[in-house]
Amino acid sequence: MLQTFETRSRRLFATLTALALLLASGCAVMPPDARFESREGVVRADGDAQAEAVGRHLDALYPRVQELLPDTVRRDFEVWVQEEPKLYLFAGPSYEEADGFWAEGPSRIHLRESAASLERTLAHELVHASLGDSWSYLPGTLEEGLCDWVSAQLVPRGAAEMRAGRLSAASFATGGLEFDVELSGPRQDGLDVTVGARVLLTGDVSQELSPEEVFRVKAGLSTTRLPAGAKKAYYGLSYLVVERVIERRGLNGLHGMCLQAERRGLDEIPVDWLLRAAELDGAGPEEWRVAIQEALGPEEVRLLVHAYPELLRGTLRRFFEGLPDDVEGAHNVRATVRIPGTAVAVPFGA
Ligand SMILES: [Zn+2]
Repeated sequence: MLQTFETRSRRLFATLTALALLLASGCAVMPPDARFESREGVVRADGDAQAEAVGRHLDALYPRVQELLPDTVRRDFEVWVQEEPKLYLFAGPSYEEADGFWAEGPSRIHLRESAASLERTLAHELVHASLGDSWSYLPGTLEEGLCDWVSAQLVPRGAAEMRAGRLSAASFATGGLEFDVELSGPRQDGLDVTVGARVLLTGDVSQELSPEEVFRVKAGLSTTRLPAGAKKAYYGLSYLVVERVIERRGLNGLHGMCLQAERRGLDEIPVDWLLRAAELDGAGPEEWRVAIQEALGPEEVRLLVHAYPELLRGTLRRFFEGLPDDVEGAHNVRATVRIPGTAVAVPFGA
């Protein structure tokens, strides 16, 4: 009898706890105060000016996203700009790292107020909100790469920043990014001295991953728990694949593979089709590393050198180690950073 009571009260406790959690997690956040009705949808933000600014971006971007992509759907949705983008007050899906997300259930785009570019993040989420069913044949994390690619096309200002971040994250998780740093400057005797070094930038990612996992892991889903570094790396690898496929076969080529997979009754595009289309079907991880290096342009290199000043500083220290009397000459030192195996060479005045 006692045992039955205990079991019963334990069950009751468990039920009440589950109910409390359900109530707490189901408690939706209140919409932000300010409201702007744009042509394409309602935008809510903390202030009128911000709601209106995002509304203008929405009106400009939504038709262009719809026009650019094959197989889109038009939905009624709202855009909420929040300090912390979230759906529920207490629990729910985790978007801690995200600058925004698309929530299909309530049909809403959530944006982080402090996003590097609200305009580009909005473009990215508008792609999620616009993709028709045929796009669901993209495997793993690839939809994220497509969203990033479209956002870079439609919002070119600052796109290099996004590319530098995505591609460096991908490279840090797959062996690091190589640079050739060359320093030259005059000595006191007037002679020019030049030193060069190959520098491997490994960032702050300790975990290495296999690039082809990008076709399996769904890093874009809030339910996929990943360390932040790995998540960024998957987004980067996804961007790389999508960009390479579109460069070679166009956006219609990428979508065509979705249609072909659908016609053949497959669940998603086979990995080897994508590898072939991206010309990554050869040697394995080393080939991916080279592809990442090749994707970096001068603007991305400039941004990375500023983000990781040690890249130049370490070489500078070595430069002056060899020239102890010439330290005053530091302002005359010229630096050039190159990406090995490419024509990219970026000059820096030290
Ligand atoms: Zn996304």
